[in-house]
Amino acid sequence: MLTFGIDIGSTTSKCVLLRDGTEILATSLLVGGIGTASPRKAVEMALEAAGVTEAEIDCTVVTGYGRNRYEGADYIVSELSCHALGAHLTFPTVRTIIDIGGQDAKVIILGADGKMQNFLMNDKCAAGTGRFLDVMATVLLVPVNEMADMAAQATDPASISSTCTVFAESEVISQLANGVAMPDLIAGICNSVAVRVGSLAKRMNIQNDVCMSGGVAQNGAVRKALEASIGKPILFSPQAQLFGALGAARYGWEKCSK
Ligand code: ADP
Repeated sequence: MLTFGIDIGSTTSKCVLLRDGTEILATSLLVGGIGTASPRKAVEMALEAAGVTEAEIDCTVVTGYGRNRYEGADYIVSELSCHALGAHLTFPTVRTIIDIGGQDAKVIILGADGKMQNFLMNDKCAAGTGRFLDVMATVLLVPVNEMADMAAQATDPASISSTCTVFAESEVISQLANGVAMPDLIAGICNSVAVRVGSLAKRMNIQNDVCMSGGVAQNGAVRKALEASIGKPILFSPQAQLFGALGAARYGWEKCSK
């Protein structure tokens, strides 16, 4: 049975094609989320990679911020449930997921069956989300995927005191003008995201094991600082950004294989 998960995010479109609920046949990830041509293109990329036509798919499930705008899915499912299912499929021992995406951060507690039990979300403030990192990367002219390597070279991480992204942007520019080294600034920026998300997580009963999902999981400096903030190790998968789409495809299998 072929099931297809589509995660239309605020910044990025992701797809996973699953065979029989476990075997990943193809994935796609394309920058550009809701309101762009990327969701459709990401669908086509994944189908082409697997050599499969849309007609051969048994069940399509759409999730993510833009899920209600996609036509032709069999099920529309919240990203909380999908991240839980995707993380559970990858790490069956995970009970806490810290998801940092392009415009929000969520802490999800799940049961041994991979079903979401509780969650807490910050979707009101860009600080503590990928948006904060994206803004700073643009200001500093550093690719967002190189921030962690640069942060690793820091000798004296800067402290970013502003709690608002707009003020923090001015603060970063002024620290740069005052001669703060780029690695120290970037380490401070990554720490700032981790501390914010860490305080969100600490409002929940964080249970072992813990993993990250979402695009910011790929930033090792944020991961490390988040581990220090919550006092627990965090499992990492290079597919963390695909967990929502993976969970959507898994949801389709659970529904349609019955
Ligand atoms: P959404 O679903 O809201 O579009 P994602 O979970 O796809 O969000 O994550 C997007 C975020 O991940 C962006 O803010 C982006 O900067 C960040 N990101 C993507 N790739 C990387 C990478 N290689 N290193 C660090 N951050 C990344």
